[in-house]
Amino acid sequence: MTLGHDATGYVDRVGSSVHHLHVGDRVVMESALSCGICDYCKRGLYNICADLIYNGFLASYQTHPADLCHRLPDSIGMDEGTLAQTLAMGCQACFKADISPTSNVLIIGTTPTAVSAAMCAMAIGAKKVTIAGTMDSALEMIDRELGYHTIHYDANALFGEVLEAVYCKFQEWPNCAINCAITPMTMNLAVMALQPCSVCVLAECESECASFNALDILMKNIRLVPSFRSANM
Ligand SMILES: [Zn+2]
Repeated sequence: MTLGHDATGYVDRVGSSVHHLHVGDRVVMESALSCGICDYCKRGLYNICADLIYNGFLASYQTHPADLCHRLPDSIGMDEGTLAQTLAMGCQACFKADISPTSNVLIIGTTPTAVSAAMCAMAIGAKKVTIAGTMDSALEMIDRELGYHTIHYDANALFGEVLEAVYCKFQEWPNCAINCAITPMTMNLAVMALQPCSVCVLAECESECASFNALDILMKNIRLVPSFRSANM
C-alpha cells in the first residue's frame, strides 16, 4: 500500500484513449477510487461508493485514472494544488448549505475543511461567517492570517456560555451551520444556536458516534444535510 493523499504531480504517460491530458501537464488528483459500476457511482455519487479504495501518492510514479486527474491552471502552484481536494470538501459543504448573501454561517471546527468552507462561504458572499472551535492556536492563526471572526470555547463549557458568544458575534442567531467537528456537544450546539428553518450541514466527524436531540430539529424545522467527502467538485 502506498501512503499519501492530497497530491499534485506531472503527467508522465497517458493511455491511448485519454485526450484531455498530455505528457508534462501539472495535475491534482482525487485520491479515492470508486468502483464505477454500483448504483451510487452510476448516479454520480461516487463519494459514497461502498467499494472505495485510496490511491497513495508518496511515490515517484503512480498509475491513476485520467478522469480523477485535473489539470492545474498556470496561476496555481504545485503546493497550492495539493489543497484542491480539501477545498472541494469545504465548497461542497457550502453548496449543500445553499449559502446566499443573507446567510449567517456558523462553522464549527478548525480543520482544513472548516477553513476552506469559511473561505468558500466568504467568496459566495455570505452575510457573516464565524468559526467556532476549541483549538486556541488554530483560531488565533485563522484570525491573524485570514481575519475571520472566531469563537473559542472550552470543550467542557456550558451551552449557555457558547450560545451567548455565538449570538454576540452575529448579533442574531445564525441561519446556517457547517459542522466540521461532529460530536454530541457540537450537534446540540448547532441545533440550539440555529434559527428555525435553518440548515445544518454535517461535514466532518470528531467522534465515532454523535447522538443529538431530534425533537429540537423537528420543532425548529432544521434541514440536516450530509456532505461526505466530495464528488464532482
Ligand atoms: Zn461504486
